[in-house]
Amino acid sequence: MSKHTHAFQAEVKQILHLVTHSLYSNKEIFLRELVSNASDACDKLRFEALDKPELFEDQPNLEIRLIVDAEAKTITIRDNGVGMSAEEAAAHLGTIAKSGTREFMAALDGDKKKDANLIGQFGVGFYSGFIVADRITVESRRAGLPAGEGVRWSSEGTGEYDLETIDKPTRGTDVILHLREEEAEFLAAWKLRSIVSKYSDHISLPILMRKEEWDKDAGKYVAKDEWETVNKAAALWARPKSEVTDAEYQEFYKQLSYDAQPPLSYTHNRVEGRSEYTQLLYIPAKAPYDLWNRDKRGGVKLYVKRVFIMDDAEALMPVYLRFVKGVIDSADLPLNVSRELLQESRDVKAIREGSTKRVLSMLESLADSDSADDQAKYMSFWKEFGAVLKEGIGEDFQNQERLAKLFRFASTHADEGVSLADYVKRMKEGQETIYVITADSLTAAKSSPQLEIFRKKGLEVLLLTDRVDEWLLSHLHEFEGHALQSVAKGAFDLGKLQDEEEKKQAEATAEAFKPVLDRLKESLKDRAKDVRVTTRLVDSPACIVVDEGDMSAHLARMLKQAGQ
Ligand code: ADP
Ligand code: MG
Repeated sequence: MSKHTHAFQAEVKQILHLVTHSLYSNKEIFLRELVSNASDACDKLRFEALDKPELFEDQPNLEIRLIVDAEAKTITIRDNGVGMSAEEAAAHLGTIAKSGTREFMAALDGDKKKDANLIGQFGVGFYSGFIVADRITVESRRAGLPAGEGVRWSSEGTGEYDLETIDKPTRGTDVILHLREEEAEFLAAWKLRSIVSKYSDHISLPILMRKEEWDKDAGKYVAKDEWETVNKAAALWARPKSEVTDAEYQEFYKQLSYDAQPPLSYTHNRVEGRSEYTQLLYIPAKAPYDLWNRDKRGGVKLYVKRVFIMDDAEALMPVYLRFVKGVIDSADLPLNVSRELLQESRDVKAIREGSTKRVLSMLESLADSDSADDQAKYMSFWKEFGAVLKEGIGEDFQNQERLAKLFRFASTHADEGVSLADYVKRMKEGQETIYVITADSLTAAKSSPQLEIFRKKGLEVLLLTDRVDEWLLSHLHEFEGHALQSVAKGAFDLGKLQDEEEKKQAEATAEAFKPVLDRLKESLKDRAKDVRVTTRLVDSPACIVVDEGDMSAHLARMLKQAGQ
């Protein structure tokens, strides 16, 4: 193939513009992104070679090299990973295939202020090279293809790129950055080393650079032919907990999640027993823009004995914990495990159960902590992810009780942060039931006439205003032996909470109003099942209730809105 020029897809142009303009203040991340791509390419090769060991050719040791050429003003990131064919280079470096990226672009069109945060949630990846380079040349050969089928991709990062066929004897990819005039600082080897140790220490492959020696005559350091490893080259989760610093955990999270904010909490454990595995799990501080998509795959990567197997292995976490990010490295699963196999594996089931418990413990230790700081963290978690956690009540029967304890609500007592346990503690003498009301909003809930009698008697009522709350009530029937009851349902009896006097009065009123009730029943007969005298109102003249077991008025409204 002779040299051909191709236009970038429109989205790529937008991304390029965005990346080079908005990430300028944090330009060193280009190296993290390119090293991470090199590492991914090696992971992919290792995975493909499970079935086809010949792909290793004569180079079974996977590695990344960083090469500085001060004369030419270039930095080369070289890997001997899976490489790219010409088609792949055009597809991966010229278009944006990932659906997530399209959503990203759509989101950017909306609120421009969010740009900086949003960008952190996506891999800015390859294109970040253009922050420091005015031209990038990529030379690559796909593992398994002959030397004559190498490809050179080249672009100035504006509207187009060139593709041509080249000879490339070695497998893998060279990404050559032609640095902009003003970015010469990155030509200093010590600078690159310090960026590597800041961002890429945990990469499990060796990252090699040429050794340097002080040259007296030249009065500067010069590179020798000898290479040395400049990162720790050990997967972070495989290192003992005591040897990993908080800063390293934080940095690893950033790379895993592309979240610009530090995580709320994390847990790192080596689990032995029925199933042997290492888990490193993070709870993000902020919900991603697509949290509500239940089909979205989770954020946990699966490794088997340090070999990367797959991203987003949803079988490792229940759906209601889809916001958790992290890594699970199993010692038991076969290396060729597929998504289908994962669904059925007993080891995976053990991992899922163990990891779920870990996440719940992490949340409990924030929620039950004596420190105001932790409790504030928990409340911020609850605001971001509470509604998702509620889904767990119907999904994870085993942990129902632990989940219920983690829930927080508004009530007639406090606008937020009321746990079921708090409620139970405040129950009145003789009160057996936990009273709740569902509504569209806190204001609507608070002004509901159904609450009048509860206010008068000083009984607390939980005010449930999340969309999932109706659903929650259909799965959560009791807490510590106390039934949850909607105050908008049935002709319920306040039982022991009503004194004799009030009961007598109610009966007398019912008797006196019988003729009125009969007339009302007659005139509303097609629209109301029954008309009753009630003791639940104090100020309002009347209210509508639904029968016990019927859909609540709030749910009926929601379904109607949804067109059902
Ligand atoms: P991401 O890494 O999130 O997929 P990038 O923009 O970083 O996004 O990279 C885009 C794609 O280009 C990668 O998914 C991969 O297919 C390809 N790619 C980039 N760098 C390399 C490399 N060194 N070797 C092989 N393929 C690569
Ligand atoms: Mg990438």
